[in-house]
Amino acid sequence: MAQTIFEVLPACSAAPGLWDIYALRYARMPERRIHENFLRRDMHDGPMPLDFFVWIARNRDRTVLIDTGYGHRAGAERGRPVDIEPADALARIGLPPEQIEHVVLTHLHYDHAGSLDRFPNARIHLQDAEIAYATGRSMCHHVARFPYDVEDVVHFVRRVYGEQVEFHDGDSTLFPGLSLHLLPGHAKGLQAVLVETVRGPVLIASDATHTYANLTQNHPFALTIDVEATLNSYRRIIDLAGDMEHVIPGHDALVRTYYPSITVAGIELQVLHVDPKMP
Ligand SMILES: [Zn+2]
Ligand SMILES: [Zn+2]
Repeated sequence: MAQTIFEVLPACSAAPGLWDIYALRYARMPERRIHENFLRRDMHDGPMPLDFFVWIARNRDRTVLIDTGYGHRAGAERGRPVDIEPADALARIGLPPEQIEHVVLTHLHYDHAGSLDRFPNARIHLQDAEIAYATGRSMCHHVARFPYDVEDVVHFVRRVYGEQVEFHDGDSTLFPGLSLHLLPGHAKGLQAVLVETVRGPVLIASDATHTYANLTQNHPFALTIDVEATLNSYRRIIDLAGDMEHVIPGHDALVRTYYPSITVAGIELQVLHVDPKMP
């Protein structure tokens, strides 16, 4: 899709209570196959690449970063190098990470809650259930702790002791036009972010649905700790967003096909507050 090129992120022109939203891809998994993205593997196979994003919600008053992604250390450890550290990308587009005041962590998986030390002044928003799970007895099991990175979890706990964390339990409104919604299943305390925009509410679903197809086929992603909860969360996603054009899945490479892009200081961003072109 045609791109517009900027030196810095354009100023938000939305009315009070409305937000601009951008997706920033920092890593990708082009070799991913269809059957790796669903719980049941008895399906037609073929390519189904995944991307890794952080999301930026902005209005005239503030910027909220949704997830912090992961950086070079975790990328090297897992054999999944990043194209750019999200904090470095943010600095380039005029949002220095040390100036970010609010970070919503959708959950604590390594690809959503890494490099928190790069955001030393941010207030961090997380669901109670997520930190309880990530520090509780389930972490004695490798298969349960695999998507978590102990360094991220330890750093998060330091931020709790530093009084920089705001816990949420269920649904809550963070700012006018921006609310958090507990959607468990993929992770115990996964929260999605509902953002009011000029085109209506847009749900940053994060890993509540990895791809559009997980949701439309009602078929959970391969990594799911509670199938029943995931399916209930799928229903909730549609209740909150209204339709697929207002859902932003956590890892679908199609987001970059459906939404227009702008390039800011060499960093490509998908503009999520304009209507997508979906088939
Ligand atoms: Zn996840
Ligand atoms: Zn993820």
